[in-house]
Amino acid sequence: MVIRRWSVRLARLRLVAPAVVLLLAALLAGCNSGTPEVTVVSASTGVPNPASASKPAATASATATTTPAPVVTIDPATVGQGESLAIRVTGGAPGMTATMRVRGIAYPLIASPTGLWAVIGIPLSAPLGPTSMTVSFRDAGDKPMPDVTAPYTVIAVDRPVDALDVTPEVAAILTPDAGERENALRAAQFAAFDGQPRWNGVFRQPLTGQPEITTAFGQGRSVNGGPVTDQHSGTDLAADMGIPVYAAAPARVSWAGLMPIRGNTVVLDHGAGVLTGYSHLTDIVVESGKTVQAGDLIGHVGSTGFSTGPHLHWELSIYGVNVDPMTWLTRPFGPPAAANPPSASR
Ligand SMILES: [Zn+2]
Repeated sequence: MVIRRWSVRLARLRLVAPAVVLLLAALLAGCNSGTPEVTVVSASTGVPNPASASKPAATASATATTTPAPVVTIDPATVGQGESLAIRVTGGAPGMTATMRVRGIAYPLIASPTGLWAVIGIPLSAPLGPTSMTVSFRDAGDKPMPDVTAPYTVIAVDRPVDALDVTPEVAAILTPDAGERENALRAAQFAAFDGQPRWNGVFRQPLTGQPEITTAFGQGRSVNGGPVTDQHSGTDLAADMGIPVYAAAPARVSWAGLMPIRGNTVVLDHGAGVLTGYSHLTDIVVESGKTVQAGDLIGHVGSTGFSTGPHLHWELSIYGVNVDPMTWLTRPFGPPAAANPPSASR
């Protein structure tokens, strides 16, 4: 099949609060290979991706407590739409527990030897500007302690539109029915996850070397000159057919099989709400339920599903919110550091 593809950086468009339509959401998975057209620049600062340019972590602590006040750190304190942040707690009472509310849902913070922590994803459609995270605490006797509210700021990330020109055969994959089935599978994959984290530190590349990014996370998509429908749910990494694909971090294989749009896909559950997905594979070599370590072989690069050529579509989601997985290759989102408290500048 001969496929003509062109990737054009249109005028930088800021995509604000895109409507979430079932089929359009499914289109996010559509992937392509070809020339890289990737520049992620902060709209407000003109500097590279806010994950690397973000301000140091912000801290807040409770007052008027009878026990040592817990200190809540939001890291990074300035975070781009589609990026990740860690909430870390140091100090406080021995044996205390904590929960945070994210989009109306309460999530427990995870206990570690260095303190409580959690990681969340900032949706691409998150409102811009200053906001805050409130953490609720209970002491070892399950008595409520004062809440701590820590501020952080969400900033925009300009992401160029990716214009795809695909054959009628490939375009025909994107039917409403395929979209509905894809989203039903996604909902099932997001529905369950292991509470305890299996990883520590940064993630590794799922491919060997430093593969080219052909479409970055969050880029708008226009198929065959159509309107920009939604934003790319993962990162497309250029690779030849049959190249090995590796687990990015320790995990349990939570799902493996064929999806209508993402094609052959492996979903890994890293715990703490963090999943990674590996799509368009030519084959899958792991089974659901199996435990893998970082660097374990899980399949091989292919072009199954809605794809214009061999490549890996790599996703990372946190409690069902997709974020830029590339940030996780350089930035750890785990527990508070033991030697360097997160409240110190870093
Ligand atoms: Zn993709």
